[in-house]
Amino acid sequence: MLIHIDMDEFFAAVETLDHPELAGKAVIVGGNPQGRGVVSTANYAARRFGVHSAMPMAQAIRLCPQAVVRRGRMARYQEISSQIHAIFARYTPEIEPLSLDEAFLGISGSEKLFGSPVQIGRRIKQDIQTELGLIASVGVAPTKFIAKIASDLDKPDGFVFVAPEQVQDFLDPLPVARLWGVGKVTGAVFERLGIRTIGQVRQQSPQLMQRYFGNMGAHLLELANGIDPRPVVSERQAKSISNETTFPIDVVDAEVLRAKLMGLCEQVSGRLRQQGLKGRTVQLKLRYPDFQTLSRARRLPQASDHTDEIWQTCWQLFRDNWRAGQAIRLIGMGMSGLDEAAPATSRQADLFTAPQKQHLQVIDTITDDIQSRYGHHALQRGTSLRSQRTLSEKLKPKAK
Ligand SMILES: [Mg+2]
Repeated sequence: MLIHIDMDEFFAAVETLDHPELAGKAVIVGGNPQGRGVVSTANYAARRFGVHSAMPMAQAIRLCPQAVVRRGRMARYQEISSQIHAIFARYTPEIEPLSLDEAFLGISGSEKLFGSPVQIGRRIKQDIQTELGLIASVGVAPTKFIAKIASDLDKPDGFVFVAPEQVQDFLDPLPVARLWGVGKVTGAVFERLGIRTIGQVRQQSPQLMQRYFGNMGAHLLELANGIDPRPVVSERQAKSISNETTFPIDVVDAEVLRAKLMGLCEQVSGRLRQQGLKGRTVQLKLRYPDFQTLSRARRLPQASDHTDEIWQTCWQLFRDNWRAGQAIRLIGMGMSGLDEAAPATSRQADLFTAPQKQHLQVIDTITDDIQSRYGHHALQRGTSLRSQRTLSEKLKPKAK
């Protein structure tokens, strides 16, 4: 059994917590309504008017003009997120964060100490509410896929437990869109086949699934049968640290791709430094509009946590594997072969022998310091900022 926890209306809830006069009002957190900003979180009072995340701010304000609009305060959300993690850590060391407000918790080792999976889930939910004044929705289930659906099913303030013998009854009536990996394209194929529920997917033969969905077919069939063997992997145990982005529209522009990749390298190397790790292998992932995915890796001469070293290798890898004009749907990069970074003293020695690395470390240290104080967006390399602008330019005709 494992637990999936997802905070309700997280950014908006933190704003209301810090500004109690917002209680009971519609609150929208997001970008600049004068520009092309989008909603990152709307609270339930605003959602009643049809506002949802990723909607253009201008549209959200038209739908719900009385809403209180706030710009996001990432550093504050991160701070609360660590407090939530501190509560998780009382009950289990197996924490796999998915984002600031969402995590899987493995609890196999915790049941002797803290009770049944349901009791543990209830206690964590209660602790978050009494200590932080925030509401979490909780799913307790035998697998990740089911726990994630469960936490979402009864939101807000949800608590859903799915016992192993209830898995099939739980899954069967749900729409196919709930299966992981079913997006617009796959969804349309199911639609054409007249398959609407997970129960109907379960009735299909492996041959049919293979014919219509290729290698993904077998995986979808397993999920529909409640089979999902992936364990909870805490960040420390993770064999790699990675990050990826799916573009809202396919991108062919080399400059946009370059800048996005640089932003990913910054984030991943920042996480290495934060966790005192160095990585030996740089990984690149590209997904094309037809969902074909290319993965390539290259070893560094020495394990590194320097943004610039990692970026240089990653960019080389990209140039060796991307044809000009090739459309990209998703771009990702990661670091594997992780070692604990050498302690400070030997790092110092390393600096004396490699003076050219000295300035890299100075830049990284200053960047980390500013980002930890003011949030990730406070400081980014010129190119990764340019990507955001260029990309929003490209999206302009669609944003209307
Ligand atoms: Mg949430």
